[in-house]
Amino acid sequence: MPELPEVETVVRQLGPEVEGHRIERLEVLDPRWSRPLPPEQLEEAVSGGAIERLGRRGKYILMGLNGARTLVMHLRMTGNLVLREGEEMLDPSLGRRLYEGERSTEERHLRARFVLDDGRELWFTDPRRFGEAFLIEDARLGERFAKLGLEPFSPEFTAQALGEMAAGRKAPLKSFLLDQSGVAGVGNIYADEALFRAELHPLSPAGSMKPAHLEALRDAVVAALEAGIDAGGSSIDDYRDARGERGTMQDEFLVHTREGEDCRRCGGTIVRIVVGGRSTYFCPGCQVRLRRRPKRRTRK
Ligand SMILES: [Zn+2]
Repeated sequence: MPELPEVETVVRQLGPEVEGHRIERLEVLDPRWSRPLPPEQLEEAVSGGAIERLGRRGKYILMGLNGARTLVMHLRMTGNLVLREGEEMLDPSLGRRLYEGERSTEERHLRARFVLDDGRELWFTDPRRFGEAFLIEDARLGERFAKLGLEPFSPEFTAQALGEMAAGRKAPLKSFLLDQSGVAGVGNIYADEALFRAELHPLSPAGSMKPAHLEALRDAVVAALEAGIDAGGSSIDDYRDARGERGTMQDEFLVHTREGEDCRRCGGTIVRIVVGGRSTYFCPGCQVRLRRRPKRRTRK
């Protein structure tokens, strides 16, 4: 499932390619992609628009269009946004015939495509069909994302801010990191990687972190996400970058998916447990399990 580093990789690759280009037309081939808006309405609103900028908020891709509007896209579980050009390009009339006859896997999973003014195409493919898109006025973006947590690369993401979020929380650290209303963009992979880097046990209660733990976790989240971006993301399932290529982060995981393998720090054995329904990998040898803070005595 794409997390912040995967989305950031796509945005960084696509931005210079599509910014300044006009969308000749948008074709929405799967009504689930644009719902509740009917496909024709989204097509009509976006077709002819100019792409002014491409950005990201949490795991959302923000395509800024002329007229102070933004097309917001989310890849969800298996979505990919891939630029296609040259010989890969298909007969422009293919769109409407898509559900007939023989098609490639990509064609079969095509949910929407943008035909750009220079003939290149941007394909949103998605086997599981959870990916989505909606158009919103720029003035309403703040309100729409009001409940989304802090951006990990923003100056606001400090140990102190993390401490305020965690105060009094009994939730395990793993679940705390996955909560998008706290830190935006961290998912199952990078939560495991960050907790390993911070030497914190995933089942530690979030509210039990002391200042040194908060500092370590803040730095670890940033470092884990940066490593993911440097590797072009992780492709353990369907994720491909904007060029249709696999990321290589899965070859560099410190703990995630490494059950039974040696810990690169202490030589112990990585184990897998389930936290909040999610597979969680960690090293019991060097990731400290914090106890809940003892209650302050009220007697004198
Ligand atoms: Zn270890």
